Order: sequence, then C-alpha cells, then structure tokens
Amino acid sequence: MSTGRLTVDLDAVVANWRALDAMSGAEVQTAAVVKADGYGLGAGKVARALAAAGTRRFFVAVAEEGAALREALGPGPEISVFSGHMSGDTDMIHDLGLVPMLNSVEQVTRHLEALPGHPFGIQLDTGMNRLGMEPGEWSALRDILLPQNPRLIMSHLACADDPDHPMNHQQLSAFHDMTDGIDVPRSIAATGGILLGADYHFDLTRPGIGLYGGLPFEDAQTVVHLDLPVVQIRELSAGETVGYSNAWKAEQPARVATVSGGYADGLNRHLSNHAVMFHEDTPCPILGRVSMDLICVDITHIRDTPKALTMLSKQQTVDDLAEIAGTIGYEFLTQLGARYNRHYSRGRT
Ligand SMILES: *Cc1c(COP(=O)(O)O)cnc(C)c1O
Repeated sequence: MSTGRLTVDLDAVVANWRALDAMSGAEVQTAAVVKADGYGLGAGKVARALAAAGTRRFFVAVAEEGAALREALGPGPEISVFSGHMSGDTDMIHDLGLVPMLNSVEQVTRHLEALPGHPFGIQLDTGMNRLGMEPGEWSALRDILLPQNPRLIMSHLACADDPDHPMNHQQLSAFHDMTDGIDVPRSIAATGGILLGADYHFDLTRPGIGLYGGLPFEDAQTVVHLDLPVVQIRELSAGETVGYSNAWKAEQPARVATVSGGYADGLNRHLSNHAVMFHEDTPCPILGRVSMDLICVDITHIRDTPKALTMLSKQQTVDDLAEIAGTIGYEFLTQLGARYNRHYSRGRT
C-alpha cells in the first residue's frame, strides 16, 4: 500500500454525538452537521452511523451536499440546508425533500413562488453578519412566514468557542428579541454553543466539529487516525542535508525514513521542521520541508524498521497539528486529501 491510511472511528463519532446530546435536556433535539463531506471524513458513512444511533436531523451547507446525503440516507431523516434556497436549487430541494433555511427576502420569494407548501426553515442574523435575515427584514416577513409553519428558526454564534466573549450574550439576547413568543422550534447552538450551557440550547442543537473529535469539545473521543507508509529508509553522515532548500542538516549520523504523504494530502508545509510523527509511543521529528507527496522523518532513535509512521492519533490530534500549522482543527480536517485510503472502523482506531 503506497498511500496513507486514514481510519475514521464511527463508534467514536456516535459516542461524541451521544455525549453532546447528554449535555442538553431530554426535550432538546441534537442534530448533526455533516457539511463539507462530513468535515472531510465522509458524510454518507458518518451520517448513516449517526442515523442508526438515533440522529433524526442533519445539516449541510449547500443543496448539492443535501442531494448526496439523501442518496446515502434514504428517505426519513430531515436534511436542512444552511445556504437556503438559491437560484438553481429548486429541483433538488423538491425531489430530494430538502429543507432550506431561508436567509433573505429574495430566498423567501423564490421559495414561496417555486415550491408553495414545501417545508422550510428560517435563518436570522443576530450579529455575525454572514447569513440570515436582519431584524428589519424579519419584522417585515414574520407575519407572512409564521402561518406557514416553518420547521425551525435558527441563528449562529460568532464567538462561541470563547465562553467569556460578550458577543455570546449579545447574540443570545438579539435572538430572544426576534423570536420570543413564537411557537416554532428554535436553535442557536453549534458545538461551542452547547458548551455554553442551557441558555443556549433552545429546542435543537447543531454540533459539527465536536462529533469529529475537535475543539472546543475538549472531552471528545479521537475519531481520526492517519498512518503514512515508509517508502525508504537511509543512513546520513554528519553534514548531509534533507529535502528541498537543504532545510535540515544532520549534525550527527542519522537514520531517516521517507513517508508517503505531503502537502497535497493536507499536511501543510508549516509542519516542516516542527511537527513529529509517531512510531508506537515514540515521537519522531519531521526533518526539513514537507513536500507535495513526501515527508522525511528522523528515526535515528528507533531500533526497528517501521513499515509506517503515525501522523494523527490520540497522541497527536487534528488540533495539535492545526496549531503547529497556524490554523484550526476545522481547516486541517477538511483539507485531509482524497489520496488516502479511507477505512471506517467500529471501535478503537
Ligand atoms: C458549521 C456550522 C455549524 C456546526 O458548527 P461546529 O462549530 O462545527 O459545531 C452549525 N451551524 C452553522 C450555521 C454552521 O455553519
């Protein structure tokens, strides 16, 4: 096998969903966000495992993702689309039974004209200024929309990963101002919002990153394990260099493994000379530049001849690598490339 092996532990995804679900009251529904192909891990596989465990509602970013998800899930689970009802989406929304979260007057008009009677939800802007109706638009439309039984009224928090940020409370109170007294299920919390506590739970929560083992859900189980096969091992003499631009130089004799995987596989060049890989429990420093398809690793201190080295595991998580690479776990996960052999396990990775 010459490409990396990416293992996704579906039992860990389910356990993370159950743990997040248990943080809100029994009357609060916990949905699952599987946009961007389940944060890069495979939306169909993840969603089927979650549906079997009791998840009844899924969220995606765009209608095309909803269409693919419907194929994977079959009829039954509700699939909601954050980007709403965009031009060109009507057939997909209708034929595959998707529920668009309407974001603007334009989308409301399009939806009510093209698909009268078809279920929809409403997204409100409470200060993030990204998606959703502004308070003014909402007051103009609410008397038209509420009699049509929206499935959900939702908004999204800009700073939920920082529990002390005043924006959280500001958005919460804007959401109350716009929705109190309305008899429609409400939702404002993603993973970070769930951790903020019961005031943020309303009727439905929408975790994404926490399901996949990422921060801010610190107690998450590890979902992703990535092993890269060793292509070649060589002995270096003191003074020899490794990789592009001679970015690492051996001060002493060294043993270097070249593994298959690089920045084309989402292993960012910022990991060069900084991150480590693991041989069992032993860290092995990355030497020199990460190149497109290959990474060189110091195994001077390893006795055996490893067949593969581990990049992602409980010992070094997506968030650990994201921090070294100057990004966030969300980006690191969604960049994990198409070249890996993806395996889905039930149980420890
Ligand atoms: C991505 C997203 C979520 C899930 O957020 P996480 O931080 O991954 O839990 C929920 N709601 C909306 C509107 C989103 O865009």
